Amino acid sequence: MARIAYVNGRYCDLRNASVNIEDRGYQFSDGVYEVCEIRDGSLVDLPRHMARLKRSLGEIRIAMPMSEGALAAVMHEVVRRNRVHYGLIYLQITRGVAHRDHAFPSPSVKPSLTITAKSLNFEKNQAMAVKGIAVVTLPENRWPRVDIKSVSLLPNVLAKQQAKEQGAYEAWFVGSDGCVTEGSSSNAWIVTKSGTVVTRSAESGILPGITRAVLMEVLAALQIRLEERPFTPAEAHEAAEAFVTASTQIVMPVVKIDGKPVGTGAPGPIALKLRDHFHGFSTFS
Ligand code: PMP
Repeated sequence: MARIAYVNGRYCDLRNASVNIEDRGYQFSDGVYEVCEIRDGSLVDLPRHMARLKRSLGEIRIAMPMSEGALAAVMHEVVRRNRVHYGLIYLQITRGVAHRDHAFPSPSVKPSLTITAKSLNFEKNQAMAVKGIAVVTLPENRWPRVDIKSVSLLPNVLAKQQAKEQGAYEAWFVGSDGCVTEGSSSNAWIVTKSGTVVTRSAESGILPGITRAVLMEVLAALQIRLEERPFTPAEAHEAAEAFVTASTQIVMPVVKIDGKPVGTGAPGPIALKLRDHFHGFSTFS
């Protein structure tokens, strides 16, 4: 079955989907994006993703290309046309097409909007969670505005590649304070030996993950203690458990950091419990 993309007002075969080479997303990575999980054909936590999208756009002064309602309708149509039952939807908005000049086009141009959806292998993701993943740490080298979900992901790309070349699945950035900020495409968490879940505050150094926000509600409901504070790789090595969160990973146990096992070296009970309960706290639309 052909995959369908939405490109600036048209639904087209993904193989022919293209944007102008003077799109500022292509030339300057002048744009933002969102990724939502698709479950049972529904978009998971769409209102939260919309709110973060609007914030990201506002921070870099790009207008919403259409109303929130219209955008949601297009997203649902992309899911429907691709017949995705379980997978992800990717949405990107850039400042638009203009002759190359660093400053914003004046007068402003129409933002570009592209959306794709793809099926993922549910069993494969589950099998990964049963085994757990390895992470490596490396120095933080991103700009300070990582709270904006910008398409400018070169440090993240290089970090993920380094992790892969070292036989790991994810890379954790370590900031100048000696503490873990987040993963290249996920938020980072540990569980202390006394059962407290720890993750860095969303105030600095991280993208405020939607999975992270929902998981905080799960923790409160399950009466699991949470501390929002930075932690070092050394504390993570000593922790009972570690895990990462992201929309397409949900709660993914971490069993190895820089080649050393975490806790028992197997996915921890708290991480697995949180993974099990997660979707009871999500919205589906
Ligand atoms: N941090 C980074 C750098 C990410 O790329 C992602 C995934 N988009 C996350 C955190 C997790 O965010 P979310 O839970 O909204 O997917």
